[in-house]
Amino acid sequence: MEVSLELARQKFHRVLELLESHHRFFRESISLVASENVPSPAVREALASDFGNRYAEGWPGERLYAGCRYIDEVELLAIQLGKEVYEAEFVDVRPISGVVANMAAYTAFAQPGDTMMALAIPHGGHISHGKLKWGGTAGVVRGLEVERYEFDEENYEIDVDATRRKVERLSREGKVPKLFMLGASVFLFPHPVKEIKQIADEYGGKVVYDAAHVAGLIAGKRFQDPLREGADAVTLSTHKTLAGPQHGMILSWSRYEEELKRVVFPGLVSNHHLHAVAGLAIALAEALAFYREYASRIVENAKALAQALYERGIKVLYEHRGFTESHTLIADVSEHMNGYEAEKRLEEAGIILNRNLIPKDFRLKTDYRTPSGVRIGVQEVTRLGMGRGEMVEIAELISRVIVKREEPGKVRERVRELKKGFQHVKYAFTSETEAYQYIRIR
Ligand SMILES: *Cc1c(COP(=O)(O)O)cnc(C)c1O
Repeated sequence: MEVSLELARQKFHRVLELLESHHRFFRESISLVASENVPSPAVREALASDFGNRYAEGWPGERLYAGCRYIDEVELLAIQLGKEVYEAEFVDVRPISGVVANMAAYTAFAQPGDTMMALAIPHGGHISHGKLKWGGTAGVVRGLEVERYEFDEENYEIDVDATRRKVERLSREGKVPKLFMLGASVFLFPHPVKEIKQIADEYGGKVVYDAAHVAGLIAGKRFQDPLREGADAVTLSTHKTLAGPQHGMILSWSRYEEELKRVVFPGLVSNHHLHAVAGLAIALAEALAFYREYASRIVENAKALAQALYERGIKVLYEHRGFTESHTLIADVSEHMNGYEAEKRLEEAGIILNRNLIPKDFRLKTDYRTPSGVRIGVQEVTRLGMGRGEMVEIAELISRVIVKREEPGKVRERVRELKKGFQHVKYAFTSETEAYQYIRIR
């Protein structure tokens, strides 16, 4: 086949053009996706560095590659900062994502065929905690048998007593849980770590707390302290409420250090995205300096947005518990439209969020593509400096689309206008470059 230089060049330019379009799109939109954030320009600088072209297999100081003198120092700084932020005895910054960190925990603490307890997806569980039948990582990759926690839908919390009875039953059937996974993707209220740890101890199981969503809140001492409450390990993504690069991390105790290190390398990573490790070190320094304030602001904003939506006829769930204690709220929009339609219409208006299964979908067996709810996170808008006043305004804009069913195009203009005043990242040492500025280096 003849190679067409011209066609290749067109595609090359098209990709770059699409990247710039994406930046413009986000600059002019309000992003409320609960699992994302916008990192500081310093983190973006690290991501563009030569670290991303290198290998450093092994542990700092014991590498299998040459050329690591600066890389080692950065990784040691990331580890040290992680220990300070989370008061952890052991930190591994090599997992390249939250799912890989979970796989490390599954590998270190359980064997194929073992039983693991986890939350069902409509109760906030994550696919990486899922069973084989649903294509979940725990089942597919590690061969774990996943049993779900008993859940109190009225209060959106694990029903500890019913779970204890379930674990007793499982153990009588020879399926003693080896692993108790906590943490969620719709993480509204702290989990009962102490209580689950007691159950785990009775049966010789380990407790792993997946802090992917709430890592930034924990860093700001605003949610719960899973290590002190009894978790054997904490896994996390570093790019949700912790506004770092997309990466993963494990926090644990010295007694598990050797086991965890070995499963991460050579078990699960070869290169470990050194540019992201550098970005993570920067994000952790920012967390140490600024997250007490940032995390408090996030929770305040989440509650304010929930209240303002509620007053405008959007059924935000768990009002009797104050809606949320985190960055996330969930709303049942089914009396207006299904979650899919809400997501699409809001995106046209420049408000980006996800449709989501909510507890009642579990009973109704709703199709996951058209769930009853939406999930909203305020960590990104908070990072841009928005406060209570903007939360009320955002609630008004959302209600115009969902409750009043206004043409999304009409709302779009006001979204753009509002967003203009919020173009710089806060809670960072430096942020001269705009949050969504496209950086050309070619
Ligand atoms: C987002 C999420 C993850 C996955 O994180 P990645 O970094 O995307 O691999 C794991 N667990 C929970 C609970 C999550 O919400």
